[in-house]
Amino acid sequence: MKLKALIIVIDGFDKATFNRSNMKFVKSFFYKPIKSVEPIITPACSASILTGLDPLRHGVLDFYDNNFKPINSKSIPYLYFTDILNLRGYRLGLWKVPLIYPKKYRGFVTWGVEAPKITPCKKIEFYLNRANCRNEEIERYSSDEQYLAVYKKRTVKEINLFKSLSRNFKIDVGFFWLRYSDIISHVFYGRRQDLLINYYEFLDKQIRDLIETLEPETWIIFGDHGFAENKYVISLTRFFLEEKLIKWNSRVQKLLHLITYELGPDRLVRFGFLKSSGGMSFLRVNKLISRLYRFDNLFFIGSEENLLRFKTRNKSIETAILRKLSKLVKLIRVNETYLVLPRKHVSLTRLVLKYPINKIKYVFRSGIHWLDTIVASNDESALKINKITDIGKFILGKLKRKIHRSR
Ligand SMILES: [Zn+2]
Repeated sequence: MKLKALIIVIDGFDKATFNRSNMKFVKSFFYKPIKSVEPIITPACSASILTGLDPLRHGVLDFYDNNFKPINSKSIPYLYFTDILNLRGYRLGLWKVPLIYPKKYRGFVTWGVEAPKITPCKKIEFYLNRANCRNEEIERYSSDEQYLAVYKKRTVKEINLFKSLSRNFKIDVGFFWLRYSDIISHVFYGRRQDLLINYYEFLDKQIRDLIETLEPETWIIFGDHGFAENKYVISLTRFFLEEKLIKWNSRVQKLLHLITYELGPDRLVRFGFLKSSGGMSFLRVNKLISRLYRFDNLFFIGSEENLLRFKTRNKSIETAILRKLSKLVKLIRVNETYLVLPRKHVSLTRLVLKYPINKIKYVFRSGIHWLDTIVASNDESALKINKITDIGKFILGKLKRKIHRSR
């Protein structure tokens, strides 16, 4: 099968880990480090890849809008490079690309984590349900090695499904988004770098196999972002309480926070929070627990550790962050909300932890997103790419002419 182009996103493809691993196949082509965008969260990065714009321009800054409704492509008023390829007549095959929902294209589409269902096509839905391929959540296994083995198996399964869909739907351009690499990096980064490198080298073989099967004229592989070690966790809620900037709204609220404090983040993850799919999916649970984070004069919106958003009218909150946390976070004002963006090695939480700044190592979140990622391609002009926002232009440059079909 001869594709015109194949695009592979390795979610969280990290520059430092890539440099240290022996990805023989990928490294025998052209590759270079590139930068992601801020906020470094998957939907914002994905929208930047698709539109070629920075998050402050395309407007996707979080998984949610201000009412906790998961963001989708309808809130982005710009053309995606995939829309343009579709207009040029190419048949696309998209696998779990975030922020595509509810778009459809000629060819096939499976949507990303933010979508309420996996695909608009009944036939594919049946096929994927039978293969049980919506299980993306972080789960507890008896050992790190077993955890890795489970995700390797899932990776192979997804790649095989993508191959057979590409064949059945006779696509011209494939766009495969691998999410498992992100899940694994959160758990292993810095703590079990050996296993992460093992996974990268396993991926190298999978990529080779995928490219040799689909035989694309041009292929490009990159990360939506990279990773860094999670060294400090800032409990913003704790900080605000200690600075006397917010007060508890009720005793129940205080009690519930005390309980989560006692449980600790690792156990919360084990109970199912931070899952990306299923009944306890963080996309669904967040609205339910949002009332816990409504204080007398401040309301947290959104959830990610690479981004916290809040609404407040209290100017002294801004002053306090700038005065005491500016080495660890950046503060940006967008419309009615404040965005807090962590610097390298820092993650954010709304949970009330022991101190405002904690040097705790969590088993389940030892890695945190960072800006440095990699692009690789069989086409030398990929070396002109500097940032994930340049990728769409590269692909459109390779697929210029309109396809005229005889059928
Ligand atoms: Zn990501």
